[in-house]
Amino acid sequence: MAMLCERCRTEVYKYVVCNYCGRKICNDCIKSSQRASKTTRLVICKDCWSDMKKRKAYKTKVSLAEIKAPAQ
Ligand SMILES: [Zn+2]
Ligand SMILES: [Zn+2]
Repeated sequence: MAMLCERCRTEVYKYVVCNYCGRKICNDCIKSSQRASKTTRLVICKDCWSDMKKRKAYKTKVSLAEIKAPAQ
C-alpha cells in the first residue's frame, strides 16, 4: 500500500527513515546515506542536512539519539 513521504508528500511505496528527524521520507528527500557500522545505516534528509549540528553528527557517523544520550 502506498503512503505519503512525510517531507514532500509524494506518494511512495518504499520509504526510509531519517535518523535525524525520524520522518519517513522518499528517495528524493534523502540528502545522503552511509553505513555507520555493519548493522547500522545512517540516513539524513535535506532538511536535517541544513542543520549544522545534525550535519556534523552525520559526518562523524553519529545518530541524533547518540548525541542526546552520549555514551559515558
Ligand atoms: Zn519526499
Ligand atoms: Zn531529517
